[in-house]
Amino acid sequence: MSKKNNQLSGPTIQPRPAMRPIHRVKGMKDIQPGNYDAWNFLLRSTFKLAEFHGFERIDTPVLESFALYERSSGRTSDIVTKEMYSFVDKSGERLALRPEATPGIVRAYIEHGWFNLPQPLKTLWYGPLFRRDKPQLGRYRQHHQLNFDIFGEAGPWAEIQLLFLIHELLQDWGIKAQIDINSLGCADCRPNYTNELVKYYKEKKHREQLCPDCRRRLLKNPLRLLDCKEPACIALAQDAPQIIDYLCGPCKEHLVKVLEFLDNLGIQYNLNSQLVRGLDYYDRTVFEVVMPSASAQRPLALGGGGRYDHLIESLGGRPTPACGFALGLERLLLNLEPHKVAASKERPDVFLAQLGEGPRLKSLRLFEELRQAGLAVHQSFTKESLKGQLAIANQLKVKYTLILGQKELLDGTILLRDMESGSQEVVDLKKIKPILLKRLTKTR
Ligand SMILES: [Zn+2]
Ligand SMILES: [Zn+2]
Repeated sequence: MSKKNNQLSGPTIQPRPAMRPIHRVKGMKDIQPGNYDAWNFLLRSTFKLAEFHGFERIDTPVLESFALYERSSGRTSDIVTKEMYSFVDKSGERLALRPEATPGIVRAYIEHGWFNLPQPLKTLWYGPLFRRDKPQLGRYRQHHQLNFDIFGEAGPWAEIQLLFLIHELLQDWGIKAQIDINSLGCADCRPNYTNELVKYYKEKKHREQLCPDCRRRLLKNPLRLLDCKEPACIALAQDAPQIIDYLCGPCKEHLVKVLEFLDNLGIQYNLNSQLVRGLDYYDRTVFEVVMPSASAQRPLALGGGGRYDHLIESLGGRPTPACGFALGLERLLLNLEPHKVAASKERPDVFLAQLGEGPRLKSLRLFEELRQAGLAVHQSFTKESLKGQLAIANQLKVKYTLILGQKELLDGTILLRDMESGSQEVVDLKKIKPILLKRLTKTR
C-alpha cells in the first residue's frame, strides 16, 4: 500500500473562515425590544382620534408601477430623478418601492371607484416608504408615515379639518411644533407668479449666486428655488417676489378662509411664502409641521401636505378635489417626551406568580380563565424564583399579585396579595375570579 492510500480519503477540509455577521442595509433601521412603546403611543392615539373624525383606515401595496410616480410627483422632482428605488422585474415591468403615499392612495381611489362612496371620503393610511436619499436626522431610507386625506371637498373646510386634526394630535403627543402655511395658487394665477420669479432669478446679480442645482431647476421647476437648502439660495429667496401678491381672487379668498378658521380655533400658524413642498401636484394651500430646532440649520419638518385638486384627474380619474397631509413617524419619535410614553402604557391589573412544576401548569389554565374574563393579567412563567416574579409585578405596577405554590395547589387555594398595602390573604381558588372582578370594578 502506498503511503498516499493510507491517508484518509475524501476532500481536504479547509478550516472555515470565521463567519462575519451581515449588517442591515445603509439607511435602514431595526425596531428593537422596548422601542415599540413609543410607536404604540403615537399610533394608538392617532387611530383613535382619526376614528372620532370619521377617517377610514386604508392600505396600499409597497410596490407600484414606476409610471405612477413619474406622472404624479413630476418627472423632474428629486424623488423621481434621484431618490426612488426602482427596478425592472422578471416580466420586464418597471416597478418602484413607493417613495410617497399619495400617488398610491389616489391610484386606489380611482381603481376601486371610491368616488361612489359617500363624499367627502376621509382616509387614514399608515406604512413604510422608501427613498434612497442621504440619511439624515430622523430620516431613514425606509421610514414610516401617517397619511390623512380628504377627497371630494373643494372648500377650505378640508384644510381646516386636517389642520385641526394635526393640532389635536400634536397636543396629545406633547409636541410643540409650528404650522407653516402658504398658497401655491392655481393654474390661472401660478404662471404669472412663476414668470416673475424666473425674471427675478435671471437677473445677473441673482443668477450668479445660485447653486448649480438651482441654475438647472430655474427653467424646469422655478418654485423649488424657494426652498433650496444652500445658504446663498436661502438668502436670495428672502427677497424673491411672494406668491401671495399674485394669487387670483378665488385663490386669495380660499386662503383667507383657511386662515380665518385657524384664528378662530386659536391654532397658531406662520404664513411662510417660501413653502413650496417640492412636488408638482399641489394647488392652493400647502402646509408643513416644523420643529424649531436649535442645532439644525433649518427647522426639522415633521410632516406636511396640501391640496391636490388635479392629481386624481391627471392620473386618469374623474376630476375630484382633494387635500391631505403626512406625518413622519421617526421624526415624531425624536420629539416625544419619555414620560408621556411611559404614562400611556396600559397598566395590568393582576400578576400571576407560580412556584414549581404543578403550580405552573395550573396557573397557565388560570391565566387563560382570568384573561377571558376580561382581566388584564400578566405572568412570567419562565421565571422560577418568587423574588424575580414579584420584582416584575412591582415593575408593572399591578394592583394584585396571585401566588400559587405547592401547598396552595394541594389545598385548592391561592394567595392574593394587595400590592399597595402589602397585605396577603388565602383565597379559595374557585372564588378568585369573582373576587378579582368585584374588587377591580370597584377601583376602576
Ligand atoms: Zn388662482
Ligand atoms: Zn440652490
